[in-house]
Amino acid sequence: MKKLKNLLQQIDGKSYKGYKQMQGRYFFPSYELLIDYVQGDPFAAPSKIRVRIPNKTRTIDQEWTSTNKRKVFAEDVMTRKVSNVIQHSNPNVHGSGKSGLVAIDRPGQEILERTAAVFENGYTTVCLTVGLPANGRRINGKQADKLFFQVLPEIIQKSVLSITDKEIDEAVKLADQHEAILDKMKEEGFISFIADGATLPRASGVSDQPMKNAVAFQSPEANRVAIKLPHREEPLTGMAIRKGIALIVGGGYHGKSTLLKAIERGVYPHISGDGREYVVTDPQAVKVRAEDGRQVTNVDISPFIKNLPHGVDTTQFSTENASGSTSQAANVIEAIEAGAQTLLIDEDTSATNFMIRDERMQELVVSEKEPITPFIDKITQMRNELDVSTILVMGGSGDYFHAADEVIMMDQYVPYHVTEQAKQIAAKYPSKRQPLEESFGTLPVRSFESQSIQARKGKKEKVQAKGRTLILMGRTELSLDAVEQLVDPSQTNLIADLLLHLSKRGWLDQNHSVKELLDKIDQQLEGEGLASVAPFKDQHPGELARPRRFEIAAALNRLRTAKVSD
Ligand code: ADP
Ligand code: MG
Repeated sequence: MKKLKNLLQQIDGKSYKGYKQMQGRYFFPSYELLIDYVQGDPFAAPSKIRVRIPNKTRTIDQEWTSTNKRKVFAEDVMTRKVSNVIQHSNPNVHGSGKSGLVAIDRPGQEILERTAAVFENGYTTVCLTVGLPANGRRINGKQADKLFFQVLPEIIQKSVLSITDKEIDEAVKLADQHEAILDKMKEEGFISFIADGATLPRASGVSDQPMKNAVAFQSPEANRVAIKLPHREEPLTGMAIRKGIALIVGGGYHGKSTLLKAIERGVYPHISGDGREYVVTDPQAVKVRAEDGRQVTNVDISPFIKNLPHGVDTTQFSTENASGSTSQAANVIEAIEAGAQTLLIDEDTSATNFMIRDERMQELVVSEKEPITPFIDKITQMRNELDVSTILVMGGSGDYFHAADEVIMMDQYVPYHVTEQAKQIAAKYPSKRQPLEESFGTLPVRSFESQSIQARKGKKEKVQAKGRTLILMGRTELSLDAVEQLVDPSQTNLIADLLLHLSKRGWLDQNHSVKELLDKIDQQLEGEGLASVAPFKDQHPGELARPRRFEIAAALNRLRTAKVSD
């Protein structure tokens, strides 16, 4: 502590680069401070520090880390505590650029494994970024002193050292309940569960907070199930969607997309009070949409698209600018390749010609002239042959009635079970469409080659995330705008680090199939932790959160520089 104080006095008023001497470890009464990275100037990306509080100072109950899920939830609540304290503290540290800034990677509504605060090796480690104070471009040692000897200790005191056991216990209980719902879903073959009373709509298109005064979710009796949960007396009731083909219908503006969106986000747990904390979806469920303009590299989309004009081969289809239907076909095939068990599709974000083709169009445009086999002609084969379920929002066409195992109608935000009615209607007006009886077709076994990742820019290799939906890799951009289940910018940070890590480790040289590669990545993230993909070992790993394998695959598949062999 003295060492740091003296150093700050010495370098006060000197050139900003003098701060570099601060890198190192310092002991405070209740924690260790590790200054891992010092910014080059007051306007650059802020400095990275870690605060390590030993368990004898802040006891970490063994119960909180007894399962991976409990640990993630407990760490999440700690991260939020630190974040809230920072938001409400007024550091009053002044200067140019980012002087006096203190920040932690602030989670959104989802509970994700993240590096911001972790309980490991006998410590609570909190990763922060700080702006080292400056006057112009000179060190302001007095303000830095205030930052390290007043502001930071106070933040740690009010957060890590003040959070009650009860606050952490509550998070751990939610983890247990989440696990119990997933267990029950597996046992019963549910692919989604939406609890009665859940709030599905969000406050606005740009806010992920719950809508106030929303119509609470209420399950139709025919789909209602009750799940016994730990830490709760009454069983939790709600709507179960079973494996197979589920169709969500209803008039425009009656809440169909809102329901699907909640199902789509249900692959992640949500915090208590979110309204979706008991909306749980098969973690292997993938939202699939049209995404015209995307890169597609060597994907066999022939189950859906054959005989393109000019004899373009669709068993090894590549394009730098996919159309609506070809992009959606590629998205389906790639999701299944990565291991998706359930597909989630909304008419609002689908290519119409990919989803349906009615009998009149079939008559006018003979099948030899139409390259697309619409999704409707494959949905049953996917269920029967590949064991891949679909939840589909479709208000504009009844063509899917005959294929659906379950039809749910949204009416004024309330779901109704209308399967039998839909089946009767389908029988009354038999479709004159010509169904295609063929099987689904083959799935690709591809592998990414090492040249896929071209991270070099100038002298350095660099892959950097810019927000949730953009990664800059070397000289190319990777856009993840349409990857809707990528929900947190820190997941994108991790993907960016992972790309560089893959290239450095040479994992793409080993001829792994996409699935093997994703398995290997999952194993590493599980076994060695998220920080294991960060560029510097045993330092502040950056703001990382765990993406699913599907979002990692989505990034690889969209690389403009991808080289794929089969
Ligand atoms: P659809 O897909 O059927 O056309 P949306 O799901 O887009 O309808 O919903 C239409 C509007 O209704 C949205 O603005 C949404 O926020 C709102 N909404 C959806 N569900 C509810 C609800 N349970 N309570 C209140 N408003 C809702
Ligand atoms: Mg809609």
